Amino acid sequence: MNEFADEPRAAAGEQAAPYPDVVSVLGWSASGDPVASANALFRVFAAERPLAELNGLLRALRPVPVMTGQGLTWAVESSGDVLPAALSTCLLGWLLHHDESRLGTCQAARCVDVYADASPTGRRRFCSPTCLNRHKVAAHRARAR
Ligand SMILES: [Zn+2]
Repeated sequence: MNEFADEPRAAAGEQAAPYPDVVSVLGWSASGDPVASANALFRVFAAERPLAELNGLLRALRPVPVMTGQGLTWAVESSGDVLPAALSTCLLGWLLHHDESRLGTCQAARCVDVYADASPTGRRRFCSPTCLNRHKVAAHRARAR
């Protein structure tokens, strides 16, 4: 998702970089605009009140629960809503087991990639170990000066 949303691409200076192949990122082919979908989900992670933002997105997409022999699936009326609805309902499922405060955006310089913190402590502030290490090195260099 971070590779498609406008704000993470801008923070990384990668606005002009080609978008990755959606199927290779998701592992499945979904109809819907990946950039618009990523931007909509980014707003949930970046929101002061993520649940309110997600609920607004779900109200707009109106995914209908469908119980099957394989479990719960979701249906939408418009094929263009498949990708944003899939991302939204996936996040909805995650939030059934985690507090909204565990969603966030990376605090490292030149990165606002999103993260979902499932750690025991719930203190995550960076999207990846790479950003955490980059932040630590920058802080160390700042102290050394
Ligand atoms: Zn990051």
